[in-house]
Amino acid sequence: PAPLTPPEGFAERLAAIGVTLDAAVIAKLGDYLARLLAMNELMNLTSITDPVEVWEKHILDSLTLVPLLEELSAGARLADIGSGGGLPGLPLAIARPDLKVTLVEATQKKASFLAAVAAGLGLTNVSVRAERAEQLGKGDLRGAFDAVTARAVGRLVMLIPLTVPFVRPNGIVLLVKGQRAEEELAEASWVLERQRAAFVKTVGTPTGKIVVLRKAGEEPKRHFGR
Ligand code: SAM
Repeated sequence: PAPLTPPEGFAERLAAIGVTLDAAVIAKLGDYLARLLAMNELMNLTSITDPVEVWEKHILDSLTLVPLLEELSAGARLADIGSGGGLPGLPLAIARPDLKVTLVEATQKKASFLAAVAAGLGLTNVSVRAERAEQLGKGDLRGAFDAVTARAVGRLVMLIPLTVPFVRPNGIVLLVKGQRAEEELAEASWVLERQRAAFVKTVGTPTGKIVVLRKAGEEPKRHFGR
């Protein structure tokens, strides 16, 4: 499908959230959106289908995370959990081609789309795992990432235990939530403690709020036999 073109003033909207991207990167985002909307005819990937609205509610929403990822240097690893049609993982992989991005999506059909779209867009920094996060987070991907993201994957009380296991000590956890983020946080304080993660701040996006968490540092070594 023909790439979507961004609405008037899109570059200014990006600048307002502290993001500057060159024209080739914006064109690639439009290419991604076109593929997402085309595939959405065949499977349920997004309820937002207006070609202008998707720039705001999917792309700007996802790219609000970019300034929060500034601490990640080239080669750093990011996991996006419950990626669905690729949000926010694919826009992040496009905007930050220096990061290694792993998309975790339990539904095989969606995971196949993600792999195909990453290949179609020439994104060599993306890999896809078609498995449940519960399994992966206690398996080979435990602690394997510098950052983890998730958007629209349930309440914080279940989302925190689903995502935090993926990051290393001191790793950053960015959860894109609706307007009720604070309520959900209050309900999840015991889970944060159990996962050894701390609340940092919330940041507004076009559709809701990003909850920023940080995993605690290395646990002190236990003495042998204790
Ligand atoms: N993040 C995308 C977005 O913002 O458009 C998709 C959101 S969709 C509502 C939730 C996605 O998470 C679905 O594609 C679902 O298959 C996936 N998912 C839910 N629980 C999961 C789990 N435990 N492990 C992996 N994927 C999961």
